[in-house]
Amino acid sequence: MPEFSLDLNEEQRDLRDWVHGFASEVVRPAAAEWDEREETPWPIIQEASKIGLYGFEFLANAWADPTGLSLCIANEELFWGDAGIGMAIFGTSLAVASIYGSGTPDQMVEWVPQCFGDPDDPKVAAFCTTEPEAGSDVSAMRTRARYDEATDEWILSGQKAFATNGGIANVHVVTASVDPELGSRGQAGFIVPPGTPGLTATKKLRKLGLRASHTADVFLDEVRVPGSCLLGGKDALDDRLAKAREGKKASGQAAMRTFELSRPTVGAQALGIARAAYEYALDYAKSRVQFGRPIIDNQGIAFALADMRTEIDAARLLVWRAAWMGRNNRVFEAGEGSMSKLKAGEVAVSTTEKAVQILGGAGFVRDHPVERWYRDAKIYTIFEGTSEIQRLVVSRAISGRYIR
Ligand SMILES: Cc1cc2nc3c(=O)[nH]c(=O)nc-3n(C[C@H](O)[C@H](O)[C@H](O)COP(=O)(O)OP(=O)(O)OC[C@H]3O[C@@H](n4cnc5c(N)ncnc54)[C@H](O)[C@@H]3O)c2cc1C
Repeated sequence: MPEFSLDLNEEQRDLRDWVHGFASEVVRPAAAEWDEREETPWPIIQEASKIGLYGFEFLANAWADPTGLSLCIANEELFWGDAGIGMAIFGTSLAVASIYGSGTPDQMVEWVPQCFGDPDDPKVAAFCTTEPEAGSDVSAMRTRARYDEATDEWILSGQKAFATNGGIANVHVVTASVDPELGSRGQAGFIVPPGTPGLTATKKLRKLGLRASHTADVFLDEVRVPGSCLLGGKDALDDRLAKAREGKKASGQAAMRTFELSRPTVGAQALGIARAAYEYALDYAKSRVQFGRPIIDNQGIAFALADMRTEIDAARLLVWRAAWMGRNNRVFEAGEGSMSKLKAGEVAVSTTEKAVQILGGAGFVRDHPVERWYRDAKIYTIFEGTSEIQRLVVSRAISGRYIR
């Protein structure tokens, strides 16, 4: 029986300090500029690629950690530096996770390196699933994939919304419906290789936060991809569709599990923003003097900081628990993955709001980063499943009822 411990091991501490160094020396000093420019920070992605923070080897090493914590630690530190730049660097991992989760070994070897490029010529990848009419309700997806037997090609048609790296990606992973009658069980993932005709995108969408990260709508107009671009291969798809048509219980649980597994990592990103804001507000409260004493000497301020720290630490424990459960194949009996992302997202929003309040007028202007953190935090109650959808998952799991 292994000893219970919440201490990080040496490798995890090294990882934390290494990513933190990059976040504080490279990312944070550049954050305001890229937020203002609303452009993809290619030089910083390249820097991350050069030091080995951006690339499959890094992700594979982090995934290999048997405690499941490494990826959370790296995300928290990088996003502590800046969430917009953090997403510009780690946004690619959404597409990579999908290839890794659903692809064959051959597909992984072929496509994952093309998602990242190399340090001399870094690339990004996009995972496109949300649509104008299918956000929280993924089963309403209208993008269609038809198989052309004569040419062994898949033909994709439809529209995707809000895709991180959409249009600027080297590799787009696109979900589409193969058999609309089967709802989400009739859907599959496809690789759209670089330069494929028929895939176009809007300009970068202008956002409240995460402005350095590229977000765009993607259009697929009779996009033809080779049969080998169907993730997992045709035999596996045919088998899955046949089971679904027979009404056999199948992959719903698997899809749910994938989401539950990725959610702690997203929660860790939210924690990075929350911690940045808390630390900044704590320092500010010690130095800002009003009524002849530092404002932290008022309980009203000190208690707010105590609450911020307590909430951040509580959220981190939920994030780490879910990450550990996922890595060690524990069953998510109560939607623990969703619970972690729900809590961390809401803590990021409430903590950054309190930080703005503690800075007063200084919190509202761009001379201080809390204004940006306040804007950046909000997306964490929206993407990767809104807070309401996380509550839906948890409430269904704990009640065994189909709550709507
Ligand atoms: C910056 C950014 C980056 C993104 N990146 C990606 C990406 O890379 N790939 C991708 O595929 N998508 C991406 N998204 C899309 C994101 O995942 C969706 O916006 C999100 O899932 C919510 O979908 P929606 O916007 O259509 O909202 P809707 O589903 O329309 O929801 C609107 C509101 O209704 C609520 N609601 C809906 N259904 C229920 C219900 N049953 N019960 C209670 N409340 C409900 C929601 O919680 C929400 O408050 C991104 C979005 C943004 C803004």
